[in-house]
Amino acid sequence: MNARRPALDIAIAGGGMVGAACALALARRGFAVALLEAREPKAWQGAEPEDLRVIALAPSSARLLDDLGVWRNIEAARVSPYRRMCVWDAASGAELGFDAAHEGRAQLGWIVENNLVACMLWNALEGVGVRRVCPARVTTFARRDERITLDIDNGEVLSAALLVIADGAGSALREQTGIGVRGRDYGQRAVVAHVVSERAHEATAWQRFTHEGPIALLPLSGGRSSIVWSLPETRAREVLALDDAAFCDAAGLASDFRLGRVIATTPRASFPLRLQIAERFSAGRCVLIGDAAHAVHPLAGQGANLGLRDVAELASVLGEARDAGRDFAASHVLGRYARRRRAASTLDARTFDAIERMFAWQAPGWAMLRGAGMRAVDVLGPLKRLLSAHAEGVA
Ligand SMILES: Cc1cc2nc3c(=O)[nH]c(=O)nc-3n(C[C@H](O)[C@H](O)[C@H](O)COP(=O)(O)OP(=O)(O)OC[C@H]3O[C@@H](n4cnc5c(N)ncnc54)[C@H](O)[C@@H]3O)c2cc1C
Repeated sequence: MNARRPALDIAIAGGGMVGAACALALARRGFAVALLEAREPKAWQGAEPEDLRVIALAPSSARLLDDLGVWRNIEAARVSPYRRMCVWDAASGAELGFDAAHEGRAQLGWIVENNLVACMLWNALEGVGVRRVCPARVTTFARRDERITLDIDNGEVLSAALLVIADGAGSALREQTGIGVRGRDYGQRAVVAHVVSERAHEATAWQRFTHEGPIALLPLSGGRSSIVWSLPETRAREVLALDDAAFCDAAGLASDFRLGRVIATTPRASFPLRLQIAERFSAGRCVLIGDAAHAVHPLAGQGANLGLRDVAELASVLGEARDAGRDFAASHVLGRYARRRRAASTLDARTFDAIERMFAWQAPGWAMLRGAGMRAVDVLGPLKRLLSAHAEGVA
């Protein structure tokens, strides 16, 4: 390590949205942090069309980004608030609706481009003294006494008291810790595209559950929508191979023409879907955050939100330990973060998984029961408010 630099407290491997937010949060708590990212992040250009990867950001995440000093820039750049959410069941026709106005709020959340959030976080790192090492892939790491030594593919070697693993769902570094994962492959892909429909989206996040999987139409700027369409692998490949006109027809049909016909589309991309929860969120002087710790079905739009909750919890636990003069990377400190976040994210991940199964199951009479259940939830104010508060990140 360069002798002129102060000893690193924390190295973070993976500078996606969650790793970059973590670097910023920890640096603002006074830790000496390095963020190592394998790929140079693409600079965000407002004049370019919206990134195909968008996320529904919950108010708790916007608050965290605000505390980190980046939300104002993100909001000023390009976000689409959504005020209502409408979820409906293709088989029974039952609907479940959420409206921010009923809860005295201006919006339920925002649709934001992944690249925009990652970029604003990345830009903010310099101002708080985070050492950005990029392009730099961490290849191996080893514990030496009270430090972790990291080997980087550019030949550099770094040493830190703690390694935060944020290298995404396919985390090679989690594997190196020996921590296994539980879950299942959904055998599905999420096909994503931005589309223009006959009718504007009314600042509403629409989601229709079909027996093949959910199709969501999320509001974007200019009245366009982002489609997130989860389909079995073979169907997804068929849909990806359609020409634009046929894709528009298929998407319109799958969304029951709720916004009228789909009349234009961007090129498509797709992502494999799996449920995956790490068996532990800490080992030795390493902790897992974001998709490296938990990957969930996108039907509830919560993956990145869960990752940002990891960041808030980790920064709080490590900061408290340091303020009390304790070793912030001691196993009992990391264990506190790990237990809290594993319990909460496992509950969320299992709930989303249960919803996926509930709509995929096709036993006779089940659709009718499911529809009755949805209608009951729709009219039960307290239960609906609880669901809404949970999605908001406050329950
Ligand atoms: C179709 C779809 C829709 C979604 N919709 C939503 C939504 O509406 N709301 C929501 O909250 N979430 C949503 N998600 C989930 C969300 O996108 C993810 O949870 C989130 O992007 C994960 O961020 P991350 O930083 O943990 O991982 P990643 O974004 O995967 O970042 C990992 C980073 O680590 C780097 N890296 C990998 N290996 C190394 C290494 N060895 N050394 C250094 N760097 C390394 C990679 O280059 C990458 O930049 C959706 C996901 C999908 C697929």
